[in-house]
Amino acid sequence: MPTLSSNETSSQGRTYSTNDTVDAVVIGTGAGGAPLLARLAQAGLRVVALEAGPEKNPKTDYATDERAQNFLFWNDERLSAGQDPLAFGSNNSGTGVGGSTLHFTAYTPRAQPDDLRLQTEFGVAADWPVDFNEDIVPYYNEIEQFLGVSGPASYPWGPARTQSYPLPPLPLNGAAQLMQRGCADLGIRTSPAANAALSGRYFQPGVGWREACTNRGFCQAGCSIGAKASMDVTYLALARAHGAEIRPDSFVTSFDRDTQGRITTVIYIRDGQTYRQPCKAVFLCAGAVETPRLLLLNGLANSSGQVGRNLMAHTGLQIWGEFDEDVRPYKGIPGGLISEDMHRPFSNKSADFAGGYLLQSIGVMPVTYVKQRVRGTGLWGQALHDAMSRYNHVAGINILGDCLPYDHNYLELSDEKDVRGLPKPRVYFTNGENEKQMNAHADRIMREIWAAAGAKNVWAFPRSAHVIGTCRMGHSPDDSVVDANGRSFDVPNLYISDNSTFPSALSVNPALTIMALSLRTADKFLQQAG
Ligand SMILES: Cc1cc2nc3c(=O)[nH]c(=O)nc-3n(C[C@H](O)[C@H](O)[C@H](O)COP(=O)(O)OP(=O)(O)OC[C@H]3O[C@@H](n4cnc5c(N)ncnc54)[C@H](O)[C@@H]3O)c2cc1C
Ligand code: SF4
Repeated sequence: MPTLSSNETSSQGRTYSTNDTVDAVVIGTGAGGAPLLARLAQAGLRVVALEAGPEKNPKTDYATDERAQNFLFWNDERLSAGQDPLAFGSNNSGTGVGGSTLHFTAYTPRAQPDDLRLQTEFGVAADWPVDFNEDIVPYYNEIEQFLGVSGPASYPWGPARTQSYPLPPLPLNGAAQLMQRGCADLGIRTSPAANAALSGRYFQPGVGWREACTNRGFCQAGCSIGAKASMDVTYLALARAHGAEIRPDSFVTSFDRDTQGRITTVIYIRDGQTYRQPCKAVFLCAGAVETPRLLLLNGLANSSGQVGRNLMAHTGLQIWGEFDEDVRPYKGIPGGLISEDMHRPFSNKSADFAGGYLLQSIGVMPVTYVKQRVRGTGLWGQALHDAMSRYNHVAGINILGDCLPYDHNYLELSDEKDVRGLPKPRVYFTNGENEKQMNAHADRIMREIWAAAGAKNVWAFPRSAHVIGTCRMGHSPDDSVVDANGRSFDVPNLYISDNSTFPSALSVNPALTIMALSLRTADKFLQQAG
């Protein structure tokens, strides 16, 4: 068995030996793993992060080429089943030191309090076991300041803010200006969106000064200048500055446990070799597909039978149109404008669906656009060529809406093996009546907006985004995998922090809330450890 030795003066920060028993191992370095890694390191704990993906230097290793940046996505095959099979790869999740934030679009809206209470409000899904004002808002405040979120001075929806965004909003790109025009015509309120990308230079603890966004519109292919607050240039840099070690290319496969059921060692593969890292606690932050997969592979933390169940994916219909104006959809921060007027679109209880959705303008790069054009409309040959010749005149709006958990949507291990000889995950997804009604409502609203803005050749791209909920948190081990602090009901030194713990999908983009729960889990762990 190969071993790694410790080193206190490595250029990559401190390193630990695989003969040391570290205080905690964090598996995965995305939105769920990175903030808590930093928090634990700041508290003086000896922490090692194991990350399946590579470590890249955005300044030297990123290309201004969508296809060359494909390494940012989790491209291992996942089997997709059900009547509305989910698209994986670039539609779903990332890999590398920074996880999916390396390619995320940087939208960081806050959830609203009623997002956490769908069961109370509508009698569906599950309420969250945490209090919005006490358990979430303080972390939103902290994270927005730390990341340098750019956002509006006043925001028309949700509770009054106790703290302003640290930076003013980024400029509206072509799609945002057109959506603003269409919404104004229809009386739908809009606002510049909150984005975790810098509208001005910003000092980042652990990093130094980060440069302002240059409006390259390349967020989904990675930000080469560090203006976007992906985890590599924010929480992971802070974690390293406080002594955390991050091991890239390290794929965790299994665990050793003691007679009390506590995890004693995390076992992982790096460069074809198997390593073992002894530890006192484990934070599993591998995302809503790999986290349940790893637990199912090891028969771990599943006395509730809920690992892999309650799978949700945001309802994410897009409506595209062509305009006489020169839109240049590749320019500017992709998500410039937002409306939450459809958060609860019905003024009485006779709603067509439970929950709600937000509307966002979308910029798009050419390879992404052509793939969606083919999948959404089936265009090919000359017709596709003609459509693409109008690329500079296209603009899109999408929704992000609640999705309910159903028995028929879940993740399981298949009989097919991946390159490591491990069973591939199979994910079942079929929209229920709630999602169909929400899509129909949103389809009508977005087409009206684009008609008011002067769009031609309008077309729809039905989609679902972000896998959520596969290890949900709750009050009881009967129906949940972890408690309100992210701690496993079954394995006392195992915590989960990622998209998988959400009890309901939220009608907003998830990353800010994942980070909030991540810091909260770290704080609860530190309090309990004394
Ligand atoms: C194109 C796109 C755009 C998006 N834009 C936005 C947006 O604008 N705003 C927003 O809020 N959300 C956005 N999202 C969603 C958001 O990025 C994710 O929901 C969020 O980052 C997920 O965080 P996570 O911690 O759950 O998982 P991840 O960030 O995916 O982190 C999981 C990490 O674990 C690693 N890992 C997995 N298995 C193992 C293993 N066995 N061993 C070791 N490491 C492992 C992975 O390599 C990965 O780095 C977007 C998603 C996509 C696909
Ligand atoms: S628009 Fe460009 S510079 Fe700005 S955050 Fe996105 S990738 Fe970075």
